[in-house]
Amino acid sequence: MDYPRRQALVAAQLGKSVDALLVTHLPNVRYLCGFTGSSGVLLVKGNTAVLFTDGRYTAQARNQVQAARVVIGKGSPLLAAAQVVQRRKLRKIGIEGEHLTVSAQAALRKALGTGTRLLSVTGAVEKLRMIKDAEEVARIRAAVDLGATLLDTALQSIRPGVKETEVAAELEYAARRAGAEAMSFETIVASGARSAMPHGAASVAPIPARGFVVLDFGVILHGYCSDMTRTVHVGKSSAGDRRMYEAVREAQQAAIDAVRAGVASGQVDRAARSRLRQAGLARHFTHSTGHGVGLEIHEPPRIARGQREPLQAGMIVTIEPGAYVADRGGVRIEDMVLVTDTGCEVLTPAPKDFIEL
Ligand code: ZN
Ligand code: ZN
Repeated sequence: MDYPRRQALVAAQLGKSVDALLVTHLPNVRYLCGFTGSSGVLLVKGNTAVLFTDGRYTAQARNQVQAARVVIGKGSPLLAAAQVVQRRKLRKIGIEGEHLTVSAQAALRKALGTGTRLLSVTGAVEKLRMIKDAEEVARIRAAVDLGATLLDTALQSIRPGVKETEVAAELEYAARRAGAEAMSFETIVASGARSAMPHGAASVAPIPARGFVVLDFGVILHGYCSDMTRTVHVGKSSAGDRRMYEAVREAQQAAIDAVRAGVASGQVDRAARSRLRQAGLARHFTHSTGHGVGLEIHEPPRIARGQREPLQAGMIVTIEPGAYVADRGGVRIEDMVLVTDTGCEVLTPAPKDFIEL
């Protein structure tokens, strides 16, 4: 990973608005210097960077950190960073206001005294992280491929009477056996009426004899997340069930077809929504169409209603419209796509035909 380039881009983006940036959000720390520990603060100033961590991470920091000096502090890394800020007489420090708690900000202010101002810098690193470099794309492809292999395992375990958690367990066990570091979020197995809950984490509810089952899951591999959803039907489906499935599938395809560098992300959302409107399902599509994926499962950009931000080549986003009808059930289909200048590449290698188990 080209950490010096990333640090230089952050510094260039901030320009003279701050003297240095205090990076506290751990995925951003990792993105800028490679450190994956749970306690770390990175101070980026021009083209130099210092990572502050504690004694538990001495060996790990030595192995992982690149393009930054490592300081092992006795107390909080944040306060160790504050000491350096004071010593170097830095006056304007950028902080990640959306990630630093009120009490941490208060402690920092107290440690720095009145001579230094804290300026909240929103999304400075996240903005860079939206565009994936070749190494990141390769890692995400590997995570997506591993994730997609888990679908068959899950499908094999789906039978009426089996608990949703058992399906999740089989899927997650297979993920770990295949080398996943973790699941990228709580596995969703939502069956029957529960499939109408967009975020129905696997519960002890038994799979019913008839109904949809929404499976939404992802793995973390080499630090990068995957995210996919497939919906299957258990037992005999009705014509209405199949119509609903096809409408969501067509909405997903319409959104995929709308993806291209330069297109506002809201336009991609609109493509999915207008197809669902034709099917009378627009009001049952209660979330946004997609999100960026990378070191975190949800990261910018958002593919949502009214978003004017243009997509850029190198972004990796999900396309995941759905329809959720209370007491009846829900359908969602989700792939990850890589935005290109001419369109997009669908990364998720799994079929989307209607499956009746
Ligand atoms: Zn998902
Ligand atoms: Zn998603």
